[in-house]
Amino acid sequence: MFKSPRKTPNAVENLAENWDVVVVGAGIAGCMTAGTIALKGKGNVSVLLMDRNPPTEAGKKTVLGWVCGDAVGEHHIKYIHEHIGTTYGKPEMENRVTAVYVYSPDMKVRVPFEGPGYVLDRPKFAKRLLDDALKAGVEFRGNVQATELIQENGTIVGLHGQTVGPGVNQPFEIRSKLIIDTSGMSTKLRRNLPIPSHIEKEINKDDVEPTARLNAKLRDGIEVEPFHCDIYLDAEKAPGGYLWLFPKSEDKVNIGLGIQQKRSPKPLSALLKDWLAADDRFKDIQPLSDDSNLTGSWQVSVRHQNDCLVANGYMICGDAAWFPNPISAGGIGPGLIGGIMAGEAAVRAIEANDFSEKQLWQYNLDFVNHYGNKTAGLEVFRMYLQTLNNDQINYGMRHFLSSDEATEISLGEMPHLSVGKKIVKLFRGLGSYKAFSGLVFTMGRMRALNELYQNYPKDPAQFDAWKANVDSILAQGRARFH
Ligand SMILES: Cc1cc2nc3c(=O)[nH]c(=O)nc-3n(C[C@H](O)[C@H](O)[C@H](O)COP(=O)(O)OP(=O)(O)OC[C@H]3O[C@@H](n4cnc5c(N)ncnc54)[C@H](O)[C@@H]3O)c2cc1C
Repeated sequence: MFKSPRKTPNAVENLAENWDVVVVGAGIAGCMTAGTIALKGKGNVSVLLMDRNPPTEAGKKTVLGWVCGDAVGEHHIKYIHEHIGTTYGKPEMENRVTAVYVYSPDMKVRVPFEGPGYVLDRPKFAKRLLDDALKAGVEFRGNVQATELIQENGTIVGLHGQTVGPGVNQPFEIRSKLIIDTSGMSTKLRRNLPIPSHIEKEINKDDVEPTARLNAKLRDGIEVEPFHCDIYLDAEKAPGGYLWLFPKSEDKVNIGLGIQQKRSPKPLSALLKDWLAADDRFKDIQPLSDDSNLTGSWQVSVRHQNDCLVANGYMICGDAAWFPNPISAGGIGPGLIGGIMAGEAAVRAIEANDFSEKQLWQYNLDFVNHYGNKTAGLEVFRMYLQTLNNDQINYGMRHFLSSDEATEISLGEMPHLSVGKKIVKLFRGLGSYKAFSGLVFTMGRMRALNELYQNYPKDPAQFDAWKANVDSILAQGRARFH
């Protein structure tokens, strides 16, 4: 039934379609991966990008929309320009901000957390990403859902799927030399990966945050400063997570919150309601719904990326690989740059006609060296933060977290705790030996993890021993901050 001028013939031609690469999920990561393959493959690679949504809704996480805070750091956008030459602008980059500020629960301290960035018009950004991929030569197919991977002799060689939409559930089979899974947090493909590999299949539920967001217009006369994004730490209003206000303009905002479920006495929707009712800026706000991007919630991972991103004939990228930052939950940037790296790895595999784990392994190294070397340390820092009450956060931010230290943490580096005075002050002020010793413990584990990731295994054969060390340190963090 599927006809494509770009398909590559092989022995199974009569049984099913056959592609060089199939990318499952046309969100941020999938569009960037597929587009990079087509671009760098220079017309010699057949690449199919499929999504369960129609093309107008590619990347939509749920029926309610592209549920996201839509903030992305400028450094990620620069990376894209440097690697594939793409430049973005209006209308998809809706608002440029110069900083992201983090506020203490008592609102007395604010520290800049990350540098400049953008608040995206997400539906328009999704369209731009898909348009770019199509222009580069990707074939897109909407309303089709991948249901399971096909393996032969320990290698992924294709997938089964079905068409979706009213009244049609037609099964199909597609063969491909390489399947790249960018189907997001809900991926069934990774969870049911039918071959032995180093990819972790399941995520611990404490490493997943339910997260809700609302795009809204403020009431007449109320404005916010449009040149910075705000993150509010508050262990009561957003237990184990944070609240955010990301401005689309002076009077249009993307607001929301993420929580760790086990620390919250209330459901997410009730906490969002409470916040809207308590903050005068949000009185009589009007949800923006003209672009079918409605109020909604979804899950985001707040752990380090999957330590292995490749298997024979199979790769993972984006939320399917737990790319979001463990502290900020920012997954757009790593999804975009990871998509470029995944695409480059796929092209190298095509050129070598080798789709083995070993051939694809360089993608692990590229991602870890550029981005992933800090995330396991940040995961321990996140576990620690989630145990603090508002007094402890207020004190810590007032006396401990200078702008430089906040930046260091956001980069996954070690804040300089060695200044004796500061430690004594912190120790006394927190009034809690537990919080202080927890911080010292965290710094030690972050240092050890950062060192381990400097030595990410260059060969799959060294992976298990290295991974055992990583897991053992993270287990110490989990045992301490449960
Ligand atoms: C409320 C919220 C706020 C957030 N705020 C921010 C933020 O401000 N900044 C930031 O950087 N990150 C943020 N994130 C994280 C960010 O949204 C994600 O990291 C990012 O969207 C991941 O992109 P992706 O392409 O990997 O996956 P997704 O965006 O989830 O896309 C997956 C795609 O795969 C498709 N799909 C799924 N299963 C199948 C299947 N079986 N077959 C075919 N297609 C399938 C889906 O339809 C979808 O199009 C937030 C997340 C949430 C939930």
